[in-house]
Amino acid sequence: AIPLVVAINTSLAARNGMLVRDRIAMERARTLDTVVFDKTGTLTEGEQGVVDIATVDGVSEDEALALAATVEGDSEHMIAQAIREAADDRGVSRRTATDFEALKGRGVRATVDGERVYVGGPNLLSELEGGVPPALERFADRAGENAQTVVYLVREDERSESSKVRAGTKRHASREGEPVAAFALADVVREQSYRVVDALHELGLEVAMMTGDSEDVARAVADDLGIDTVFAEVLPEDKDEKITELQEQGKSVAMVGDGVNDAPALTRADIGIAIGSGTDVAVQSADIILVQNNPMDVVRLVKLSRASYRKMQ
Ligand code: ADP
Ligand code: MG
Repeated sequence: AIPLVVAINTSLAARNGMLVRDRIAMERARTLDTVVFDKTGTLTEGEQGVVDIATVDGVSEDEALALAATVEGDSEHMIAQAIREAADDRGVSRRTATDFEALKGRGVRATVDGERVYVGGPNLLSELEGGVPPALERFADRAGENAQTVVYLVREDERSESSKVRAGTKRHASREGEPVAAFALADVVREQSYRVVDALHELGLEVAMMTGDSEDVARAVADDLGIDTVFAEVLPEDKDEKITELQEQGKSVAMVGDGVNDAPALTRADIGIAIGSGTDVAVQSADIILVQNNPMDVVRLVKLSRASYRKMQ
């Protein structure tokens, strides 16, 4: 009789906007303790666009944008798309670059005119071990308070003779590994995300958020949504480790995500749930797919699982 119940369950799920790839996961949903949400693209719609730019003395906004768009030329990341769009909107043309490289969860880098150039977030900066010039730090603080994501432009061999000669202009006062510009990107929280946390709490579940984004942005979004546990600045290779830590506390954990970087965590979780519009890798790693990209469907999933379990007894 159980398989029949599960089958009914699955078609019910389909009617509720869920694609069930693993029926057992559907059953497990009734015993969940914790739901961990990825931020960008899951609770939020994804980066919407560049809303502000700051530069150090001697670098113009257009120059910074042109260079950043060049380095982001090969990346499919939403941040890359937003930066390329901003450059196009301003009519600044990209330069030629080689050696494109994605630095997972950190940013990107490429070689432009023999100079190594990076675009990335706080994780990148801590790896490059350069400080942040005060003007850019103030800019980032303000953006963070507004829940805007900040990425930085870093030129590696800034002080080398060759780059001075090549550029033929006076160089600004930036140190090795220090960013010369910062971009603020505004994202929009999905309307449905506002009700998810309360609804899950009512079902007795804990809600957490995990993101590669900075601590202050994560905090601002989490406070807005009423999420109490936040894992910020988590590198992609560490996301599944966080799930394991929760499981080691005896918790049954669902992970909800959309990105390539979420795939290992989706696999590791007791239930992996992918946003339907997410990347192929995320969708393939998940047990359940939210076809309508609606985080509220996680609530429906738990309710459905509990209701069908009661029927079985
Ligand atoms: P999330 O966990 O929020 O989905 P990611 O793991 O994709 O985010 O990225 C984490 C952080 O790494 C971003 O917030 C950004 O700071 C940086 N990053 C990743 N990819 C890029 C890129 N192509 N350009 C600039 N920054 C990037
Ligand atoms: Mg994401």
